Amino acid sequence: MSYASPETLLDTLSVEEPEEIDLEAIAFHCGAVVRYRTLDGCAARIVGSGNRAVITVDEFASPGRKRFSIGHELGHWMRDRGKSGHLCQKSDLKARWDRSDSESLANAYAADLLMPVSMFKPRAHNQQPSFDTVRGLAKTFKTSRPATAIRLVQYSSFPVVLVAYGRDGRRKWFKPSPQLEGMIWPRTELSHETQAFELLYGGTAFNRPLQTRASEWLDHRSAYRHDVWEDSIKTDDEVLCMIWWKRQQDLDALLS
Ligand SMILES: [Zn+2]
Repeated sequence: MSYASPETLLDTLSVEEPEEIDLEAIAFHCGAVVRYRTLDGCAARIVGSGNRAVITVDEFASPGRKRFSIGHELGHWMRDRGKSGHLCQKSDLKARWDRSDSESLANAYAADLLMPVSMFKPRAHNQQPSFDTVRGLAKTFKTSRPATAIRLVQYSSFPVVLVAYGRDGRRKWFKPSPQLEGMIWPRTELSHETQAFELLYGGTAFNRPLQTRASEWLDHRSAYRHDVWEDSIKTDDEVLCMIWWKRQQDLDALLS
């Protein structure tokens, strides 16, 4: 079997709804068997020979993470067949999705397979990019919250930035919606005046969307005169924050 895009695979297997996306069946169709094992120091791996491969996934990972790992390894299998194999770290699965290195391409493949644009975009349409929306979509697509949040940023109807801060309150990575690429830089240090700060350091936080000063989030020179919406959640090792504008004109005023 030669390279097949996620869209082609889903089409071939007549998959039309999110609940029909059976990763093990898709892998089998591609000549790969999936096993769940205790993996030391990596999240997933693929070992292939000829047209056959074995994908091994960390049995202790969450269900959403397991699915993403299978999609990621299939992405490697499609592009790098004939090479000896891949060992993928947890951090590989968080690599950006829009670069051309093999880990990013494998992540993009997994995202297109687990959350196909044709199914995801209509379900994200006009939904506020809050973590309530992320939870709903993650349930529908059986994906992890971080992966679903990144996908939502790509296809949201609203201008939005997803930003992750580590336990030390320093920015780890951020992902703007396509229209904001190269225009918005979240602060490198998490502001004390945010819900995210309270979540990170154990205080009480409302944990629902709140309107805050844009200057708590952005270094833009006129940010103190404008507001943004914030919603945040805490994960294992970071706090994830969605920052968005409900009206295009609010963003335009900030950027003008
Ligand atoms: Zn990988």
